[in-house]
Amino acid sequence: MKDLRDRLQDAGVHTLLAQFTDIHGVAKGKYVPLAHLDDLLTDGVGFSGPSIAGTGLPRTGPRSEYWARGNASTARALPWMPGYARVVCDGFVDNAPFEACPRQVLRRAIGRLAQHGWHLRTGIEPEFFLLKQEGGRWLPADDQDRLDKPSYDLKALPRQAEFLQGLHRCLEECQLDVLQLDHEDAQGQFEVNFGFDEALASADHLMLFKQAAHALAEARGMVFSMMPKPFANQPGSGMHFHASLWTGQRNNLSNVFVPHTPDGSVDNTALLSPIGQHFAAGVLAHSAALCAVAAPTVNSYKRLVVGESLSGTSWAPAYVAHGANNRTALIRTLHGRFEWRLPDASANPYLATAAMIAAGLDGVDRQLELPPACVDDLFQLSLTQIAQRGIAVLPQDLGAAIDALQTDRVVCDALGATLVEQFVHLKRDEHVAHARHVSDWELDRYARAY
Ligand code: GLU
Ligand code: MG
Repeated sequence: MKDLRDRLQDAGVHTLLAQFTDIHGVAKGKYVPLAHLDDLLTDGVGFSGPSIAGTGLPRTGPRSEYWARGNASTARALPWMPGYARVVCDGFVDNAPFEACPRQVLRRAIGRLAQHGWHLRTGIEPEFFLLKQEGGRWLPADDQDRLDKPSYDLKALPRQAEFLQGLHRCLEECQLDVLQLDHEDAQGQFEVNFGFDEALASADHLMLFKQAAHALAEARGMVFSMMPKPFANQPGSGMHFHASLWTGQRNNLSNVFVPHTPDGSVDNTALLSPIGQHFAAGVLAHSAALCAVAAPTVNSYKRLVVGESLSGTSWAPAYVAHGANNRTALIRTLHGRFEWRLPDASANPYLATAAMIAAGLDGVDRQLELPPACVDDLFQLSLTQIAQRGIAVLPQDLGAAIDALQTDRVVCDALGATLVEQFVHLKRDEHVAHARHVSDWELDRYARAY
């Protein structure tokens, strides 16, 4: 600890940002002077439990206190906040890991994988918008970013180069391996990719990315948004997870999803090993329940639309299918890994990963077989053709996804009773509030008509 304190002090750090993640996937925390690093790493720092969304903790007594206990290995000086270092914390209550802390939920799921001798590696791909609010309207921050098909546009990219370069530099200084930055399919939409890592580290990286992006955008008068679908007539923001299971130690790791021939050499004619196929089959089989966690807002279901999207191709999966390099399916299989395309940008990365692990492990335990791989462009098929192929459709609103979650023992057990109770309560409220809201669309459509 002394070493760490000295290193941080040498880097000019005077204050720690003790950060944890709430049920909504939002970063929370407080400032702690560097002199109290030891306290943060041993007991943790205290918060009023019921003031944190989704804890369900009481207002009085020993269980009213939520302790955020720091992990020394996560300490990083924050380039966009000179003098401050972030420390990622786990939730504790009454001196025990708090069962409804999203990072603890993921730790439990990782523990179950470890019983098989495996760990999960994920590459999380955030898409996001840079927005502004003008006269009450939300618009892309860049007025010139108005092409009909702006994917990969190299004219729009340099107009945000200052933000993107700043983000790139901040993430690299925090030891993330930035791989690509591009303009996405919608006006004002971008994607930043960084290297894959162990599941817990990847979720921590995603949270770091969000904190950096929020701060850098705000400093430039923009709003960084991971809302799934800000504009009905434009594609939404996904947050795809590339997933693979690994075994072995640091210098001798092997990917359990890589297929092998009977003579033990890598099989380049197949994509996934039998375990990889069972795991992916489990993720597909639990898709309806996973939807609640991976697409957790009412707005998420404007991204996951069936049939024609207002924006043409949305690239967001609505159908429970998989296919080799098929971006129109929920699972896109690649050699030794698969891309889980269900999650959107509003998903809590800890909960989404934990739920996905539980579904995958259930597939392995029950030796579930993948349905036939889908080679079609699913966006071109009618709902009748989809049904004829035996392909299920994802829940089409948050209420239906919550119903599916509540009946899925495997996913509920992985999340834990307290978290499920809180999640269902918060999300039902959100669904009902949305359903009861009278929107401008309704007034425009009905006010004069009847
Ligand atoms: N924006 C799409 C989605 O919502 C994904 C586009 C892509 O494949 O990169 O999932
Ligand atoms: Mg993308």
